[in-house]
Amino acid sequence: MSFEIPFIRPAFPDPALIGNDFAEIVASNWYTNFGPREREFATALGDHLGHGLTVVTFSSATTALVGALQAILGLGDRSRQVLVPSFTFAAGPAAIEWSGFCPLFVDIDENSLQPSILDARVAFDNAENDIAAILLCNTFGIGNAAITEWEQLAAERGVPLVIDSAAGFGSQYADGSPVGRAGDCEVFSFHATKPFAIGEGGAIATRRPDLAEKLTAFQNFGFKANVGAVMLGLNGKLQEINAAIGLRQLEGFREAVASRRATLLQYREALDEVARFPDGIEKSSVCFASIVLPSQTERDARLQSLADADVEARAYYAPPVHVQPQFANAPRSSSLTVTESVSNRILSLPVHPHMAADDVARVISSVR
Ligand SMILES: *Cc1c(COP(=O)(O)O)cnc(C)c1O
Repeated sequence: MSFEIPFIRPAFPDPALIGNDFAEIVASNWYTNFGPREREFATALGDHLGHGLTVVTFSSATTALVGALQAILGLGDRSRQVLVPSFTFAAGPAAIEWSGFCPLFVDIDENSLQPSILDARVAFDNAENDIAAILLCNTFGIGNAAITEWEQLAAERGVPLVIDSAAGFGSQYADGSPVGRAGDCEVFSFHATKPFAIGEGGAIATRRPDLAEKLTAFQNFGFKANVGAVMLGLNGKLQEINAAIGLRQLEGFREAVASRRATLLQYREALDEVARFPDGIEKSSVCFASIVLPSQTERDARLQSLADADVEARAYYAPPVHVQPQFANAPRSSSLTVTESVSNRILSLPVHPHMAADDVARVISSVR
């Protein structure tokens, strides 16, 4: 079913420009495997995020998440757990299972909708199994306000901190530093549905050059030059055409984020009485605007009135991961009551780059 106002409407570069890029790629006879465009794109992403970071591109964030766990921990077994919120996209828990580990679900904080550090501490204190890592999710691409405390927790417990910041390229933490600089590494998605979109693609930003080297080997079959496979890898390389799209997307990206934030502020001003916005969303690149209603009935009624006005809205994240059949048997640190309650009351509103004023007004009036 298609809506007059779709949930996602990415802005892509002028097809004529991409046509020129593709002609150059064909002329150079170099389509993938760390070509000149991929090299330039990785550098440009690092420059965008600021000093001291290495960026490794990937064919998707899901592959990158598996790579991060493999490069840091190697292959796990089901007796070893990775702490992760259930209120997230299933790709994170799937990456944990592909890496051999078992997800251990933690609850979220009611106001920020971010993983609860209190619940994480309880999980460590009560752990009967080895907790091998924390896979923190910067929910909706919003930088966790307690990121320093999470880094301290990981250090105290002697485990790596991998951060799923899939929708967070272009976001800032509360102190103004770019999302991408925290933990052992942060993982971004450049899927067509994210604020920074190239089709399929992703990247990992890290302050650890040793880790960047392993991540590069992982996505290239685990190869080291002149030796062959030195680790278990797979194929996770970014194609030249996607890197070319990415280079063009970077040009207008700051303006696109500013415009998304302006739409968010309009929503928040108009809907502040009706629903609660997650803390810190204004510093994110605003993939979409998830709001929490007082009850499920009110949420469902608003989803219906938006549909009646030909506006496509969603409920992210509902259902949460721990009730999805693949993950229903995975252990949890608590009863996940906040996760379940929020999933029943969440409503995600479309935010497009350079969204038409009429469209913003229609979304607002349908919710009200
Ligand atoms: C989109 C998303 C992913 C998956 O990204 P892909 O690039 O599509 O693999 C993973 N985690 C979160 C939180 C996401 O929002």
